[in-house]
Amino acid sequence: MVQAFPLPNPTLMQTQIQCPQCGTPFPAEVHQIVDAQRTPHLKDMLLGGALNVAQCPSCGMATRLASPLLFHDSEHEMLIVHVPMELGWSMQEQEMQIGRMAKAITDGLPPEQFKAYLLQPKTIMTMQTFMEQVYSTEGITPEMIKRQQDQAQLMQNLVTGDKLTQISLIKENEDLIDQGFFGMLQQNLQMLEQNPAPEANKQFILLTNLQARLFTMTEAGKELELQQVALSKFQQAVKDKGGLTYELFLDHLIANDGNESVQSAMMQMGYQAIQYELFTVLTGRIEAAEGAEAEKLTNLRERLLEIYDQLQEQAKEQMDKAGETLSAILAAPSPEQGVQQNMGRIDEPFMHYLTAQLEMATSSENQELLDKLKPIYAMIMSAAENQLPPEVQLINALVSSENEAQMQEVLGQIPPEAHGQVKQMLGSLLERATAENPEMAAKIQQAMSLI
Ligand SMILES: [Zn+2]
Repeated sequence: MVQAFPLPNPTLMQTQIQCPQCGTPFPAEVHQIVDAQRTPHLKDMLLGGALNVAQCPSCGMATRLASPLLFHDSEHEMLIVHVPMELGWSMQEQEMQIGRMAKAITDGLPPEQFKAYLLQPKTIMTMQTFMEQVYSTEGITPEMIKRQQDQAQLMQNLVTGDKLTQISLIKENEDLIDQGFFGMLQQNLQMLEQNPAPEANKQFILLTNLQARLFTMTEAGKELELQQVALSKFQQAVKDKGGLTYELFLDHLIANDGNESVQSAMMQMGYQAIQYELFTVLTGRIEAAEGAEAEKLTNLRERLLEIYDQLQEQAKEQMDKAGETLSAILAAPSPEQGVQQNMGRIDEPFMHYLTAQLEMATSSENQELLDKLKPIYAMIMSAAENQLPPEVQLINALVSSENEAQMQEVLGQIPPEAHGQVKQMLGSLLERATAENPEMAAKIQQAMSLI
């Protein structure tokens, strides 16, 4: 794990601004320095267009704050700075300010990490070029950004258009409709599904119809539909056999030979279970085969190895990113602040990583590290808990009670008029728990008897 260290100089400034719309004066935060490794949450905000944007507390108007901005990425050896013209700084003042910001990056840097590029920040004239440089550290080119903008615009036009408009838009823009476009659509659908508002339900139906149209009208859609059919067949077969075996896995990979996207999706599903043995089984089959069949299987092995390497690479990237996030959390002044600032980066791979680090610290009896990691883990869990609906939080609190007294305490917080509703909720949960989780069922019964 790479140890990050906090930026020594204050990189955050408080400023007083006046809302251009309603005139309300209010304080705003300005960040002048973004460090990809040490303040990844600020980089996320920068990429999301939310950095140095202040929202008026009175009318809600968002204002972009003019500020010099320095970006540092040690991995890409990039140190760039942009000073907006509107600040009206003299050459001399500009140089002084840039020197001050660059010093904040190098102050406290261990000597072995000091490199030549740190001596001279590169000044970028326009914010657009500045952002292109920042995006390039993520492997995103200006062409990719343009394409994504075009796709978002197309999505907007499709959603608001009638049936005939949709059909002609799809025909004219088929080159924009790829897997990424379907991914965008899927994300929207998932968001709408969780939104109980009637308007969201209408939108959901609209988008589902649009998706069906795209499945039949576009090449990418047809491919995706085939993929879904092949994958659900595979899942069904795994279920029927009572688990994934290498032989079964291989049979389905062979059956989908020639369709690399299906094979890739299958490998992704089975990735955790694959290990190298799949290839041992395949090699056995190659040795047993002859002529054209042997050649076909040999080619398959080559392609599968490529996919496998890609998946390993992906997993490694996720782990690296998780490592960076944990370093950033550890470098924050307090665990609370660290978790709060990096909440947007805490995902499933991160939790895997954190759990693995905890296990390693436990087995190596590294008490110092454990004392740091445990509060972080607890804080993330409680933050996740707070996002759950109150009734789910209540049930979680009840079933995780260790004794009757604790249960009484939880129940004591429920207003008497809600008792009936809680009892009803527990009753319907009891039915499911009886079949799936007897221990939980017993807890629920106990709680019900106490109400
Ligand atoms: Zn305002």
